[in-house]
Amino acid sequence: MRDYYEILGVSRKASPEEIKKAYRQLALKYHPDRNPGDKEAEARFREAAEAYEALSNPDKRSIYDQFGHEGLRRSGYQGFTRPEDIFRAFGGIFDEFLNFSFGRRGQPEEEAGEDLVASVTITLEEAAHGKEVGLELPRTKICPNCKGSGAKPGTGWITCPVCHGSGTLSHGGHLFRFSVTCPECKGQGQRLESPCGSCHGSGKIQAPTTISLKIPPGVRSGSQLFLAGAGQPGRRGGPAGNLYVKVAVEGHPLFERDGDDLLCQLPIRMTQAALGAKISVPTLWGDINLTIPPGTQYGDIFKIPGKGMPILQSAGRGDLIVRIRVIIPRKLTLFQKRLLRQFDRISGHGKNPSPGFFQKLYGRFRICRIFDP
Ligand SMILES: [Zn+2]
Ligand SMILES: [Zn+2]
Repeated sequence: MRDYYEILGVSRKASPEEIKKAYRQLALKYHPDRNPGDKEAEARFREAAEAYEALSNPDKRSIYDQFGHEGLRRSGYQGFTRPEDIFRAFGGIFDEFLNFSFGRRGQPEEEAGEDLVASVTITLEEAAHGKEVGLELPRTKICPNCKGSGAKPGTGWITCPVCHGSGTLSHGGHLFRFSVTCPECKGQGQRLESPCGSCHGSGKIQAPTTISLKIPPGVRSGSQLFLAGAGQPGRRGGPAGNLYVKVAVEGHPLFERDGDDLLCQLPIRMTQAALGAKISVPTLWGDINLTIPPGTQYGDIFKIPGKGMPILQSAGRGDLIVRIRVIIPRKLTLFQKRLLRQFDRISGHGKNPSPGFFQKLYGRFRICRIFDP
């Protein structure tokens, strides 16, 4: 059997604090949760617990110092055989460091507040100019009656009567044993003696809050805004949760978004396309006059710089891409028809489409000659 001081790696004159610190380090290093299935680690863990159990108790330490292992055995001291016994004996030492799930002692620890997730839908104009929206959050606040402890004032926590403080319940025979989290105390090993009348033990009460949220110009649909600390308040001094706001940008009847650019279709009359025109084009930044040169074709594209969406975190903006659609009239008066025929005649096209067009087509698809009318 190894020397207890040697196991903990401390001198024989080590103070109780030094012994405790040395044990913590070993216990965390060889903890079964961190070394699942490692028999060596389990043995080390047990050995360290045994050494600590002996050296942390002044009476046992003095017996050990004078008479060694044999002295302790004679005084009736038995080592630990199962890790659960170690947890039961020293649960508290882990509380200060890690949230292990075994029998904790003392009051449950501080808890961070939950995150809140909200969503907001804005128009494309609002996405372009930025918007400040009021957002009602289903926040809770610390119950003023129990100050967040959840306990009726004047009462406290008691050891859970179902699991007797271990936080877990065991089932099964001696070959297989299953441990489940105690449903009564949710694994905390402690239960409220009497819950607070205002918050029914939760420690929180409803306190919806409206906050003002600035949506930056250029925000994209599906992006998420993040506000640190704007979620639910923490308990027992824990930090508040965060707020995440999902932004959806509605579709627009005129503009389609392509990254920072906006696309729009501009319908013009065939005479405007042929003769050229100055056309007023709506943009998110006010109407502008676009000069269409004579002979503009269906599908021609004009790029108007700086009339698209703002580029996030920059002063610049994308472009407005205007695609021309030439409107062919569906209904013509007799007079209009006469004029168009006249136009066609003087253009030298007669009754048939331009011969040049067919020549090109046959040039590419010779087989089409069979169908030559
Ligand atoms: Zn309360
Ligand atoms: Zn319990």
